[in-house]
Amino acid sequence: MSRRALVTGGSGGIGAAICRRLAADGCHVLIHANRHREAADTLAEALRAEGGSAEVVCFDVTDAAATATAIDSLLEGGPVQILVNNAGIHDDAVFPGMSDAQWTRVIDVNLNGFFHVTQPLTMPMIRTRWGRIITITSVAAIAGNRGQTNYAAAKGALHSATRTLSLELASRGITVNAVAPGVIETDMSAGSFPPETLARLVPMKRAGRPEEVADLVGFLASDQAAYITGQIISVNGGMI
Ligand code: NDP
Repeated sequence: MSRRALVTGGSGGIGAAICRRLAADGCHVLIHANRHREAADTLAEALRAEGGSAEVVCFDVTDAAATATAIDSLLEGGPVQILVNNAGIHDDAVFPGMSDAQWTRVIDVNLNGFFHVTQPLTMPMIRTRWGRIITITSVAAIAGNRGQTNYAAAKGALHSATRTLSLELASRGITVNAVAPGVIETDMSAGSFPPETLARLVPMKRAGRPEEVADLVGFLASDQAAYITGQIISVNGGMI
């Protein structure tokens, strides 16, 4: 039976590429969306047309109750053995001008969202004695980035959560890793990095493609990656 893989933020650029990769690897993909359900529906149809298996699930990861209800109903369909925590936002401002709302919202989506989704899936995953938890973070959490104190704090906390959770789950056949992308071509980064800025920031002098993140996620989700856990792995064209 194919493994069931939940990809949060599957309606977005990197998430969609991860869904495509996991579907190509034979998973039944649970494509998550929040506001853009149509994007997830279109992707699910495309994956099914290619012979893959996919369904769509919608919830706001900041809403603990709605997330718990959605996860419960997903679990009624069988175990979720691969979780990709990819949903995320940024809302940048230099720190002296950052509002309480900007700080709180970015922490809420990126960090509390991780808790709301991952926590209820952990015990059922333990029962199956096989699991993969992969969280998409950012180079900003490692190198810092002006204007992203809130985002870097949230993603950095996810690195610490990844390391700690990996220790708790290592003996249960569950690996927990983070993938830290640099600049990747999606709606989130669109317009933020003109070519001259990319050339200065990125030794490879280009943005990464969502598929280049998805390929690493696909590997980490596979049986071949069974001995890799607690790691923060960068995909950033040599930025750090
Ligand atoms: P997109 O903006 O394309 O996608 C973001 C996704 O997150 C969407 O699917 C969106 O759902 C979902 N999302 C946002 N808020 C919520 C919420 N409250 N509840 C549930 N889902 C939510 O971004 P990317 O694909 O570029 O980014 C994906 C991940 O990669 C993020 O975690 C981001 O921080 C990280 N990243 C991206 C980089 C880049 O250069 N693009 C660089 C480094 C890291 P919907 O649209 O349906 O509302």
